[in-house]
Amino acid sequence: MKNKVAPTPRPSAREIFCSYLKQNGHRQTQERFFIMDNALAQKAPFSAKELHEVLLGAYFTLSPATIYNTLELLCRAGLLMRSNCINSCRYYSGDAGTTWVECRHCGKLQRVKDRSLTDAISTIAVRGFTAGAFNVSITGVCSACARKLKAKNGI
Ligand SMILES: [Zn+2]
Repeated sequence: MKNKVAPTPRPSAREIFCSYLKQNGHRQTQERFFIMDNALAQKAPFSAKELHEVLLGAYFTLSPATIYNTLELLCRAGLLMRSNCINSCRYYSGDAGTTWVECRHCGKLQRVKDRSLTDAISTIAVRGFTAGAFNVSITGVCSACARKLKAKNGI
């Protein structure tokens, strides 16, 4: 009879963040884990300012700087991704490879689900470097802004 080996459980976000903080000499505070839980619970990309507004009135009094610094730590720990858009820096959890389209007029941001770009990027090899994640931002004009511009310009 063969012994069955139980699969190694995947580390939780909390375990990953604990390990990152410990290895890099950062304190493990309740505030940081509170921010982590709330950041990872967001369904849509968010800015540090938006998360601060969500957390106003929470048990902890959190400064915008604390939230911003913790979000950056979560990115370095690999738990969040950051997209530097035209109008703001936004954070999100999820895919290691993400493509965004952003309207340069109204700032509307939309995630594009297209495996072809992910597949193409995965074939790129850089000597001495192991790729972990990517994000691509495509700027342009959304259809609503295009209609407004067309009406304004009479075209
Ligand atoms: Zn727009």
